[in-house]
Amino acid sequence: STEAPPAEDINANDIFIAVKTTKKFHQSRLDLLLDTWISRNMQQTYIFTDGEDEELKKKIGSHAINTNCSAAHSRQALSCKMAVEYDKFIESGKKWFCHVDDDNYVHMRGLLKLLSQFLHTQDVYIGKPSLDRPIEATERLGDNKMRPVNFWFATGGAGFCVSRGLALKMTPWASGGHFMNTAEKIRLPDDCTIGYIIESVLGVKLMRSNLFHSHLENLQQVAMSDLQKQVTLSYGMFENKRNIINVRGAFSVEEDPSRFKSVHCLLYPDTPWCPSLVAY
Ligand code: UDP
Ligand code: MN
Repeated sequence: STEAPPAEDINANDIFIAVKTTKKFHQSRLDLLLDTWISRNMQQTYIFTDGEDEELKKKIGSHAINTNCSAAHSRQALSCKMAVEYDKFIESGKKWFCHVDDDNYVHMRGLLKLLSQFLHTQDVYIGKPSLDRPIEATERLGDNKMRPVNFWFATGGAGFCVSRGLALKMTPWASGGHFMNTAEKIRLPDDCTIGYIIESVLGVKLMRSNLFHSHLENLQQVAMSDLQKQVTLSYGMFENKRNIINVRGAFSVEEDPSRFKSVHCLLYPDTPWCPSLVAY
Protein backbone atom coordinates (compact mmCIF):
# COMPACT_ATOMS: atom_id res chain seq x y z
CA SER A 1 0.00 0.00 0.00
CA THR A 2 1.08 3.57 -0.61
CA GLU A 3 -0.35 4.91 2.62
CA ALA A 4 1.91 7.27 4.51
CA PRO A 5 2.61 6.54 8.18
CA PRO A 6 0.95 8.96 10.58
CA ALA A 7 2.86 12.20 11.13
CA GLU A 8 1.20 12.75 14.50
CA ASP A 9 -0.61 10.44 16.86
CA ILE A 10 -3.94 12.12 17.49
CA ASN A 11 -7.16 10.94 19.07
CA ALA A 12 -10.74 12.13 18.89
CA ASN A 13 -10.24 14.54 21.80
CA ASP A 14 -7.78 16.53 19.69
CA ILE A 15 -10.57 17.46 17.27
CA PHE A 16 -13.18 20.19 17.67
CA ILE A 17 -16.18 19.53 15.44
CA ALA A 18 -18.46 22.53 14.97
CA VAL A 19 -21.95 21.75 13.65
CA LYS A 20 -23.82 24.73 12.23
CA THR A 21 -27.57 24.57 12.66
CA THR A 22 -30.64 26.74 13.15
CA LYS A 23 -33.56 26.31 15.51
CA LYS A 24 -36.01 25.17 12.85
CA PHE A 25 -33.74 22.19 12.03
CA HIS A 26 -33.23 20.93 15.60
CA GLN A 27 -35.80 18.17 15.17
CA SER A 28 -35.74 17.53 11.45
CA ARG A 29 -31.95 17.37 11.08
CA LEU A 30 -30.05 17.55 14.36
CA ASP A 31 -31.85 14.71 16.15
CA LEU A 32 -30.70 12.32 13.41
CA LEU A 33 -27.08 13.40 13.96
CA LEU A 34 -27.43 13.11 17.75
CA ASP A 35 -28.78 9.57 17.33
CA THR A 36 -26.01 8.57 14.94
CA TRP A 37 -22.48 9.98 14.69
CA ILE A 38 -22.69 12.58 17.47
CA SER A 39 -23.71 9.88 19.97
CA ARG A 40 -20.23 8.42 19.50
CA ASN A 41 -18.48 11.81 19.66
CA MET A 42 -20.21 13.85 22.37
CA GLN A 43 -16.95 15.20 23.79
CA GLN A 44 -15.70 16.45 20.42
CA THR A 45 -18.88 17.97 19.02
CA TYR A 46 -20.20 21.49 19.58
CA ILE A 47 -23.52 22.61 18.13
CA PHE A 48 -23.83 26.24 17.05
CA THR A 49 -27.41 27.37 16.81
CA ASP A 50 -29.54 30.49 17.10
CA GLY A 51 -32.20 29.69 19.69
CA GLU A 52 -32.68 28.21 23.15
CA ASP A 53 -33.74 24.55 23.24
CA GLU A 54 -34.06 22.79 26.59
CA GLU A 55 -34.35 19.37 24.91
CA LEU A 56 -31.07 19.93 23.09
CA LYS A 57 -29.37 21.04 26.31
CA LYS A 58 -30.55 17.83 28.00
CA LYS A 59 -28.87 15.86 25.25
CA ILE A 60 -25.56 17.66 24.89
CA GLY A 61 -25.37 20.17 27.78
CA SER A 62 -22.89 23.00 27.38
CA HIS A 63 -21.93 21.75 23.91
CA ALA A 64 -25.17 23.31 22.64
CA ILE A 65 -24.08 26.88 22.00
CA ASN A 66 -26.61 29.60 21.38
CA THR A 67 -24.68 32.07 19.26
CA ASN A 68 -27.39 34.73 19.61
CA CYS A 69 -26.88 35.26 15.88
CA SER A 70 -29.96 36.00 13.81
CA ALA A 71 -31.91 32.97 12.58
CA ALA A 72 -32.01 34.37 9.05
CA HIS A 73 -30.17 32.64 6.21
CA SER A 74 -28.36 35.92 5.49
CA ARG A 75 -24.65 36.24 4.85
CA GLN A 76 -24.30 38.22 8.08
CA ALA A 77 -26.14 35.64 10.19
CA LEU A 78 -24.03 32.77 8.84
CA SER A 79 -20.78 34.72 9.31
CA CYS A 80 -21.86 35.53 12.84
CA LYS A 81 -22.10 31.78 13.59
CA MET A 82 -18.74 31.00 11.97
CA ALA A 83 -17.14 33.75 14.08
CA VAL A 84 -18.45 32.12 17.27
CA GLU A 85 -17.27 28.67 16.06
CA TYR A 86 -13.79 30.05 15.52
CA ASP A 87 -13.61 31.75 18.93
CA LYS A 88 -14.85 28.63 20.76
CA PHE A 89 -12.28 26.50 18.95
CA ILE A 90 -9.43 28.80 19.93
CA GLU A 91 -10.70 28.75 23.52
CA SER A 92 -10.91 24.91 23.49
CA GLY A 93 -7.17 24.42 23.02
CA LYS A 94 -7.81 21.48 20.66
CA LYS A 95 -5.50 20.68 17.73
CA TRP A 96 -7.95 20.66 14.82
CA PHE A 97 -10.99 22.74 13.91
CA CYS A 98 -13.52 20.99 11.70
CA HIS A 99 -16.73 22.64 10.54
CA VAL A 100 -19.76 20.75 9.21
CA ASP A 101 -23.40 21.51 8.39
CA ASP A 102 -26.35 19.80 10.06
CA ASP A 103 -26.87 17.61 6.97
CA ASN A 104 -23.40 16.03 7.25
CA TYR A 105 -22.44 12.67 8.72
CA VAL A 106 -18.95 12.75 10.25
CA HIS A 107 -16.97 9.52 10.34
CA MET A 108 -14.49 10.01 13.14
CA ARG A 109 -12.17 7.11 12.28
CA GLY A 110 -11.81 8.40 8.71
CA LEU A 111 -11.25 11.93 9.97
CA LEU A 112 -8.57 10.84 12.45
CA LYS A 113 -6.77 8.85 9.79
CA LEU A 114 -6.77 11.84 7.42
CA LEU A 115 -5.65 14.45 9.96
CA SER A 116 -2.97 12.22 11.48
CA GLN A 117 -1.06 12.56 8.19
CA PHE A 118 -0.29 16.17 9.16
CA LEU A 119 1.07 18.07 12.11
CA HIS A 120 -1.44 20.36 13.81
CA THR A 121 1.33 22.93 14.10
CA GLN A 122 1.65 23.11 10.29
CA ASP A 123 -0.58 25.25 8.07
CA VAL A 124 -3.35 22.88 7.00
CA TYR A 125 -6.68 23.81 5.39
CA ILE A 126 -8.35 20.72 3.94
CA GLY A 127 -11.72 20.08 2.33
CA LYS A 128 -13.48 19.97 -1.01
CA PRO A 129 -13.85 22.95 -3.35
CA SER A 130 -17.40 23.49 -4.56
CA LEU A 131 -16.30 25.13 -7.81
CA ASP A 132 -13.86 23.88 -10.45
CA ARG A 133 -12.05 27.20 -10.51
CA PRO A 134 -11.11 29.85 -7.93
CA ILE A 135 -13.88 32.21 -6.91
CA GLU A 136 -13.53 35.76 -8.24
CA ALA A 137 -14.33 38.39 -5.65
CA THR A 138 -13.82 42.07 -5.04
CA GLU A 139 -12.01 43.17 -1.93
CA ARG A 140 -13.11 46.52 -0.49
CA LEU A 141 -10.03 48.33 0.71
CA GLY A 142 -11.59 51.45 2.24
CA ASP A 143 -11.76 54.96 0.78
CA ASN A 144 -13.83 53.41 -2.04
CA LYS A 145 -10.88 51.44 -3.40
CA MET A 146 -11.54 47.93 -4.74
CA ARG A 147 -9.28 45.10 -5.78
CA PRO A 148 -10.13 41.85 -7.59
CA VAL A 149 -9.10 38.70 -5.71
CA ASN A 150 -9.16 35.03 -6.73
CA PHE A 151 -8.97 32.20 -4.28
CA TRP A 152 -10.09 28.62 -3.65
CA PHE A 153 -12.33 27.75 -0.73
CA ALA A 154 -13.62 24.53 0.78
CA THR A 155 -17.39 24.28 0.59
CA GLY A 156 -18.90 24.41 4.08
CA GLY A 157 -21.55 21.87 3.07
CA ALA A 158 -18.90 19.15 2.70
CA GLY A 159 -17.11 20.05 5.91
CA PHE A 160 -13.51 21.25 6.17
CA CYS A 161 -10.73 21.31 8.74
CA VAL A 162 -8.09 23.83 9.78
CA SER A 163 -5.03 23.06 11.91
CA ARG A 164 -4.48 25.00 15.11
CA GLY A 165 -1.22 26.36 13.74
CA LEU A 166 -3.06 27.96 10.83
CA ALA A 167 -6.10 28.98 12.89
CA LEU A 168 -3.85 30.99 15.21
CA LYS A 169 -2.45 32.90 12.23
CA MET A 170 -6.02 33.78 11.22
CA THR A 171 -6.70 35.58 14.49
CA PRO A 172 -6.36 39.20 13.27
CA TRP A 173 -9.02 38.54 10.57
CA ALA A 174 -11.16 35.93 12.32
CA SER A 175 -11.33 36.49 16.08
CA GLY A 176 -13.86 38.49 18.04
CA GLY A 177 -15.71 40.83 15.69
CA HIS A 178 -13.03 40.66 13.00
CA PHE A 179 -14.57 37.76 11.08
CA MET A 180 -17.75 39.74 10.40
CA ASN A 181 -15.71 42.72 9.19
CA THR A 182 -13.62 40.49 6.93
CA ALA A 183 -16.78 38.89 5.51
CA GLU A 184 -18.17 42.37 4.76
CA LYS A 185 -14.98 43.29 2.90
CA ILE A 186 -15.63 40.63 0.26
CA ARG A 187 -19.41 40.25 0.72
CA LEU A 188 -19.35 36.49 0.38
CA PRO A 189 -20.65 33.66 2.60
CA ASP A 190 -18.86 32.31 5.67
CA ASP A 191 -17.05 29.41 3.98
CA CYS A 192 -15.72 31.74 1.25
CA THR A 193 -14.50 34.13 3.93
CA ILE A 194 -12.49 31.32 5.53
CA GLY A 195 -10.92 30.62 2.11
CA TYR A 196 -10.23 34.32 1.59
CA ILE A 197 -8.41 34.67 4.92
CA ILE A 198 -6.36 31.51 4.38
CA GLU A 199 -5.53 31.76 0.67
CA SER A 200 -5.62 35.47 -0.14
CA VAL A 201 -4.50 37.00 3.13
CA LEU A 202 -2.19 34.32 4.52
CA GLY A 203 -1.08 32.75 1.23
CA VAL A 204 -1.75 29.16 2.36
CA LYS A 205 -3.25 26.78 -0.23
CA LEU A 206 -6.38 24.69 0.20
CA MET A 207 -5.61 20.96 0.20
CA ARG A 208 -8.24 19.01 -1.69
CA SER A 209 -9.65 15.81 -0.32
CA ASN A 210 -12.19 13.59 -2.02
CA LEU A 211 -13.19 12.15 1.32
CA PHE A 212 -15.47 15.12 2.14
CA HIS A 213 -18.91 15.04 0.51
CA SER A 214 -21.68 17.61 0.11
CA HIS A 215 -25.06 17.25 -1.58
CA LEU A 216 -23.79 19.48 -4.39
CA GLU A 217 -22.08 16.40 -5.83
CA ASN A 218 -23.72 13.18 -7.02
CA LEU A 219 -23.69 11.15 -3.82
CA GLN A 220 -24.52 7.94 -5.70
CA GLN A 221 -20.88 7.97 -6.75
CA VAL A 222 -19.48 7.63 -3.24
CA ALA A 223 -18.06 4.11 -3.24
CA MET A 224 -19.39 2.11 -0.33
CA SER A 225 -16.36 -0.16 -0.62
CA ASP A 226 -14.47 2.90 0.62
CA LEU A 227 -16.92 3.71 3.41
CA GLN A 228 -14.27 3.19 6.10
CA LYS A 229 -12.13 5.92 4.52
CA GLN A 230 -14.82 8.56 4.01
CA VAL A 231 -14.66 11.60 6.26
CA THR A 232 -18.05 13.28 5.70
CA LEU A 233 -21.27 12.35 3.89
CA SER A 234 -24.42 14.32 3.16
CA TYR A 235 -27.90 14.05 1.69
CA GLY A 236 -30.23 16.39 -0.13
CA MET A 237 -32.33 16.97 -3.20
CA PHE A 238 -31.20 17.60 -6.76
CA GLU A 239 -33.66 18.48 -9.53
CA ASN A 240 -36.53 17.15 -7.39
CA LYS A 241 -34.81 13.81 -6.85
CA ARG A 242 -33.21 12.48 -3.70
CA ASN A 243 -29.43 12.81 -3.75
CA ILE A 244 -28.31 10.17 -1.27
CA ILE A 245 -25.49 7.70 -0.97
CA ASN A 246 -26.17 4.27 -2.34
CA VAL A 247 -25.90 2.02 0.67
CA ARG A 248 -27.58 -1.32 1.16
CA GLY A 249 -28.03 -1.64 4.82
CA ALA A 250 -30.17 -2.04 7.84
CA PHE A 251 -32.94 0.37 6.84
CA SER A 252 -34.98 1.04 3.71
CA VAL A 253 -34.97 4.44 2.02
CA GLU A 254 -38.46 5.01 3.47
CA GLU A 255 -37.24 4.29 7.01
CA ASP A 256 -33.96 6.09 6.58
CA PRO A 257 -34.19 8.68 3.78
CA SER A 258 -30.81 10.28 4.56
CA ARG A 259 -29.14 6.79 4.70
CA PHE A 260 -27.28 7.96 7.82
CA LYS A 261 -28.83 5.30 10.07
CA SER A 262 -27.80 2.56 7.65
CA VAL A 263 -24.28 3.99 7.37
CA HIS A 264 -24.04 4.26 11.15
CA CYS A 265 -24.98 0.59 11.55
CA LEU A 266 -22.29 -0.43 9.07
CA LEU A 267 -19.66 1.64 10.86
CA TYR A 268 -20.82 0.84 14.42
CA PRO A 269 -22.65 -2.50 14.26
CA ASP A 270 -22.72 -2.78 18.06
CA THR A 271 -25.18 0.15 18.28
CA PRO A 272 -28.19 -1.08 20.30
CA TRP A 273 -30.82 -0.02 17.75
CA CYS A 274 -28.98 -1.59 14.81
CA PRO A 275 -30.28 -4.98 13.68
CA SER A 276 -27.90 -7.83 14.44
CA LEU A 277 -25.30 -8.44 11.75
CA VAL A 278 -26.86 -11.64 10.45
CA ALA A 279 -30.11 -9.80 9.64
CA TYR A 280 -28.85 -8.02 6.50
N1 UDP B 1 -28.66 27.35 8.25
C1 UDP B 1 -28.59 28.34 9.19
N2 UDP B 1 -29.55 29.31 9.19
C2 UDP B 1 -30.56 29.32 8.29
C3 UDP B 1 -30.61 28.31 7.30
C4 UDP B 1 -29.63 27.35 7.31
O1 UDP B 1 -27.70 28.34 10.04
O2 UDP B 1 -31.40 30.22 8.33
C5 UDP B 1 -27.63 26.32 8.25
C6 UDP B 1 -28.20 24.91 8.17
O3 UDP B 1 -28.57 24.47 9.45
C7 UDP B 1 -27.06 24.15 7.55
C8 UDP B 1 -26.41 25.19 6.63
O4 UDP B 1 -26.82 26.48 7.11
O5 UDP B 1 -26.11 23.74 8.51
C9 UDP B 1 -26.80 25.03 5.18
O6 UDP B 1 -28.20 25.04 5.08
P1 UDP B 1 -28.98 24.12 4.05
O7 UDP B 1 -28.43 22.72 4.10
O8 UDP B 1 -30.44 24.25 4.35
O9 UDP B 1 -28.69 24.81 2.67
P2 UDP B 1 -27.67 24.50 1.48
O10 UDP B 1 -26.77 25.71 1.44
O11 UDP B 1 -26.92 23.26 1.80
O12 UDP B 1 -28.53 24.36 0.29
MN1 MN C 1 -27.25 21.52 2.91
